[in-house]
Amino acid sequence: AGVPAAAPAPPPARHLFSDPAEVEALRANLLSWYDRCKRDLPWRTLAATEPDANRRGYAVWVSEIMLQQTQVATVIDYYNRWMQKWPTLQALAQASLEEVNELWAGLGYYSRGKRLQEAARKVVSELAGRMPRTAEDLQKLLPGVGRYTAGAIASISYGQATGVVDGNVIRVLCRLRCIGADSSSLAVVDRLWDMTNVLVDRSRPGDFNQALMELGATVCVPKAPLCKECPVKQHCQARCRKLFGNPPPVPDVEDCGVGDCPLCPPATEPWDSNLGVTNFPRKAAKKPPRAMRTATCVLERRGCHGAPEYLIVQRPSSGLLAGLWEFPSLPLAQDLQEKKEREVLADQLQAWMGQPVAAKGLRFIGEVIHIFSHIHQTYVVYSLPLDGNVTLDPALSPSRWVTEDEFRVSAVSTAMKKV
Ligand code: SF4
Repeated sequence: AGVPAAAPAPPPARHLFSDPAEVEALRANLLSWYDRCKRDLPWRTLAATEPDANRRGYAVWVSEIMLQQTQVATVIDYYNRWMQKWPTLQALAQASLEEVNELWAGLGYYSRGKRLQEAARKVVSELAGRMPRTAEDLQKLLPGVGRYTAGAIASISYGQATGVVDGNVIRVLCRLRCIGADSSSLAVVDRLWDMTNVLVDRSRPGDFNQALMELGATVCVPKAPLCKECPVKQHCQARCRKLFGNPPPVPDVEDCGVGDCPLCPPATEPWDSNLGVTNFPRKAAKKPPRAMRTATCVLERRGCHGAPEYLIVQRPSSGLLAGLWEFPSLPLAQDLQEKKEREVLADQLQAWMGQPVAAKGLRFIGEVIHIFSHIHQTYVVYSLPLDGNVTLDPALSPSRWVTEDEFRVSAVSTAMKKV
């Protein structure tokens, strides 16, 4: 008792950027490559040309939220439509959630659009429409803006010399510095943030951050990185190790000569020479997605012009796919027999519609599988043609009849479009 705990030892030098001359050279190499090779993207154009600081911050913010979990190629079209419809924070603040969901439909992770709009309303009503200018304030004041997004907006829009860490940056840095400990652990992520804050170029922080991410997206890619074309290959320890080997007398723990390095691969999973640079980064195994089954019923009627119409209902305003529209659906217990599934769906439809529904009247169409980030969802799809008009009990959830064309432009998820 009374003996203070020893401070953790600093990481061994091979995992750091401690030579100022090397840092300078790395910045220069990366930036000159970026100037030559960067992709032409609409948000980059806006960040470089928009003179109004609030509009500029907003333009980068929208792109960063859309790019979370979604590929650049998919985002471009959504981004252009969004910025055309809502070019300013004020315009977005006045939009309805329904409009936001409609434009977002197909991008996935729908709560992102909703939160973006809520935060825009906050900037307009509480901050007089002025975007916070530093990463610290952005993170503190804007709901849904985390450390990464705050750093990206502050560096790209406002020139703050602050680093960013996203999946691409993690991969590049872990390779540059042979970091093989679990890259999703807090200890490693904290080290990487420290590292980017050291590395970031003081005069062009936004370009530097984008360059590092661009390198991860186009050159230092997960499976087959293009090391020969890499502008920072001379700084890359993973490549050096691949080319020249690293003859450890015992596995990786000895890499750093300190026995218990917190950043080296664990002794139980040492460097695998078949993997080369893709030894890095390493992640603890992910939990497999949870399996779910949902019965969904496409109710169909003839509309007034004879064209078929379909009933859609709105999901609750929180939780998965909040506020989106879907065909009436019912989560199923995992181990039900097909006959039983049909019966529970018929019972549920009967309760919703207030009129008898026979289980054998439901026509089985097929199964649709859709993977959400953490759920492996199987939709068991039925259809039920109706003669007369039907309304669902309005106390349950809002519902409406739509034609096929109306369905396509409604705020429905990709999974429902598959159905
Ligand atoms: Fe990535 Fe290869 Fe470049 Fe190293 S040399 S940073 S592994 S692309």
